[in-house]
Amino acid sequence: MTGSRYLLTHDRHSVLVDCGLFQGVKNIRSRNWKPFPVDARDVSAVVLTHAHLDHSGYLPRFMKEGFRGAVWATPATRELAAILLEDSAHLQEEDARHANRHGYSKHHPAEPLYTADDAQRVMKQFRSTGFGEPVQVGPFTIRFSRAGHILGAACVRVECAGRSITFSGDVGRPQDLVMLPPEPLRASDWLVLESTYGDRLHPSEDAAEQLAAIVNRTVARGGTVLLPSFAVGRAQVLMHLLASLMDARRIPDLPVFLDSPMAIDVTGVFRHFNADHKLDAHALQRLDERVTCTRKPEQSEQLSSSRYPKVILAGAGMLNGGRILHHLLAFGADARSTLVITGYQAEGTRGDALLKGARSLRMFGREVPIDCEVTQLDGLSAHADYAEMLAWLKPIGQAPRQVFVTHGEPVAADMLRQHLARELGWSACVPEQGDEFELD
Ligand SMILES: [Zn+2]
Repeated sequence: MTGSRYLLTHDRHSVLVDCGLFQGVKNIRSRNWKPFPVDARDVSAVVLTHAHLDHSGYLPRFMKEGFRGAVWATPATRELAAILLEDSAHLQEEDARHANRHGYSKHHPAEPLYTADDAQRVMKQFRSTGFGEPVQVGPFTIRFSRAGHILGAACVRVECAGRSITFSGDVGRPQDLVMLPPEPLRASDWLVLESTYGDRLHPSEDAAEQLAAIVNRTVARGGTVLLPSFAVGRAQVLMHLLASLMDARRIPDLPVFLDSPMAIDVTGVFRHFNADHKLDAHALQRLDERVTCTRKPEQSEQLSSSRYPKVILAGAGMLNGGRILHHLLAFGADARSTLVITGYQAEGTRGDALLKGARSLRMFGREVPIDCEVTQLDGLSAHADYAEMLAWLKPIGQAPRQVFVTHGEPVAADMLRQHLARELGWSACVPEQGDEFELD
């Protein structure tokens, strides 16, 4: 599910497609500390499908292991990666400090996986190329095509010695509020396909309608709406929805705060790549008018102590840290307020506990009662479900010789494998981590 990395070799050349961090519970995160299975100095280049850390977050560590080649990415992925890798480095440093303070690390002193300095240094290895432009790395010709998942996200097609293989990366949806749809894929000999939603269909409810109802009933009670949100994509969709609802007078004009320095930076990247998403100059200007960015910690604290109705967007999306926790401390016990869970919640996170009915949360060393309304906003996923995936693949016509179904929970991956076989007649398998295949 996380730690996406594929090593492709031909003769003595090799490229790594994605260089992801393992995220989640501790025994999964500990895989980040294992030595890379081949010598990092022998890898000529890394090719990134997109900037999410489960696809890019191992890069600074890979550089520390000796990787000196180029990192190829689309221009938007390169800008987003600079923001996300730096944030990831700060979290790694914080973890190490925490471990040292409480003395629970096996290593003394505990070291971060990488530092902010490492994250900045690896950015010097980045090279960017637009969608459709070929790049030559040794015997490999590499091309990006739009995947529609987040800003800059690409599918990667690699041609070598008369053969071709495509890595889907994470695939977006045909109808997204902000992202353009994934481009049709060209036929290739092999396909590596993600399967996050391989066993599910997204609900058909209208997210705008749901959000309007949530805001209206919270405002009627005199409460505050808390929107924990991921900095890339989700925060921008929510701001766009709120601004549109206010313009259409479906919710009252009320203060909306983007209380996340990282999401503020990411929104800035959207302005640099107008052709890569659906927010035109007018829509972006409306965000400026409707949304107040609070970058400084003291501004954030002020929001927590004010009682007028408002909407606060803050990280982290799964309530596993970030400024949202201070707001939850302030508004969680307020029965007039609403906490809106807006995306996938990994097992063991506070967001997951709330969805399973918890009415108190452990935060800042104590148990905090949650008496506010807790609700979920569906329909904002940035991953295609299996029906959308099949509809996207079907026009290729020509079956790949083999599909490798990856990047999903085991059940989701196997269900997608079955859908591919049944509905498209494609031969597919679900590889294990570490498997090797001869493509000839
Ligand atoms: Zn992703």
